[in-house]
Amino acid sequence: MKTIIEPFKIKSVEPIQFTTEAERHDVLRKAFFNPFLIHADDVLIDLLTDSGTSAMSAKQWAGILDGDEAYAGSRSFFRFEKAVRALTGLKHIIPTHQGRAAEKIIFTIMGGKGKVIPNNTHFDTTRANVEFSGAEAVDLPTDEGKKPDLIADFKGNMNIPALKALIERVGPRNIPLCMITITNNSGGGQPVSMANIRETKQLLKQHDIPLFLDACRFAENAFFIKKREPGYSDKSAASIAREMFSHADGCTMSAKKDAFVNMGGFLALNDDSLAVNARNLLIVTEGFTTYGGLAGRDLEAIAQGLEEIVDEHYLTYRIRSVEYLGQKLVGGGVPIVEPPGGHAIYLDAKRFAPHLRPDQFPGQAIVCELYRAGGIRSVEIGSVMFGKYDSAGKLFSPPMELVRLAIPRRVYTQSHIDYVIEVVLDVFARRNQLKGFRIVEEAPVLRHFTAKFEPLAS
Ligand SMILES: *Cc1c(COP(=O)(O)O)cnc(C)c1O
Repeated sequence: MKTIIEPFKIKSVEPIQFTTEAERHDVLRKAFFNPFLIHADDVLIDLLTDSGTSAMSAKQWAGILDGDEAYAGSRSFFRFEKAVRALTGLKHIIPTHQGRAAEKIIFTIMGGKGKVIPNNTHFDTTRANVEFSGAEAVDLPTDEGKKPDLIADFKGNMNIPALKALIERVGPRNIPLCMITITNNSGGGQPVSMANIRETKQLLKQHDIPLFLDACRFAENAFFIKKREPGYSDKSAASIAREMFSHADGCTMSAKKDAFVNMGGFLALNDDSLAVNARNLLIVTEGFTTYGGLAGRDLEAIAQGLEEIVDEHYLTYRIRSVEYLGQKLVGGGVPIVEPPGGHAIYLDAKRFAPHLRPDQFPGQAIVCELYRAGGIRSVEIGSVMFGKYDSAGKLFSPPMELVRLAIPRRVYTQSHIDYVIEVVLDVFARRNQLKGFRIVEEAPVLRHFTAKFEPLAS
């Protein structure tokens, strides 16, 4: 097999910033050891997120210039609406400024006290919006999905027996909707199979519970189905994506992921009265129905991006380049969530730094050392992001302690990735010396964005 090359050539470049280890030591201290508080200019390779960090194509940039900025009835809105409808088949297409704005609208209407929202795994903003409405967010990953070293095709799946049990326990009336996150971001970027989406829908249908997809990485999920699920190898990624959406009654989408844009999102749904409520809220919180929280030029770029994302040369390169990083790390003995997910490699901090307890934040220790040693920015997905305290102030940890190396779309080349591999292997070789952290300041919700840390003495 030949090397899978980047399916594009570079038209416009942006320099990256080199710093010394001593400078980064200082930067870390000033940022209270929280990667979200580091200035991007001090980062060499930024793997904090794949969200809003994509490189747009020449055609998307052309669309930026061509965008129609009419307040109402913009031509760019109609192009956007057509592209989203062609993909999802859903009736009402509501633009929002990003994914969480769509979540805020849907959970304001459908959430609330006493309600329970199941999901294969809620993303952090999704959970926050569910809980902010007063509802309870319940994660129902499969047992496979909870085992980071187990190799399986669809570790992102919804746990259907657990969903059935939940419906019986709380009653369908208290479940206004069920979500499936594709791919399962917080669960390691793992895909969900078509069979799982179909069976989840069948179960929900018996109880009149609508199914919503959290569709941020729908194209990556579709490509995994093509590669791994029997019966799909001859189908196009675009048609697989349409089939996934055909089982859904609605979706929320952050276009900052699988639409290659720097800002944007949407809510799409079939129910007419729900759409009326959603549009009313949209006008109060985001903007008029034909622009939501976006400029006409943004809508244009999303429409173009949705066409480009299902290109199979792109998806082949995308999935392969993430897998390449994963294979090289595994080859060097580094414990990661296997198999590699679609948009990121997740280091398994529990096995990487077993000498640190969850309340010493092993993931945060790795994040800081990757930055100090190599200028690479990553993010902890473990006790910092999802830890909760009980009434006695004791930390409740999530099942996994991970460090996410998210790969921005079309931004870095193979030599950048080779450099990342070298730095991770270097830190791994010195893993016994990693020191834990404690939190000295934190916010009540989504604390990982702003928390301040202090290294432990030993
Ligand atoms: C990014 C993301 C969101 C939220 O989208 P934003 O555009 O960041 O508000 C929701 N769900 C998943 C799975 C995501 O990855």
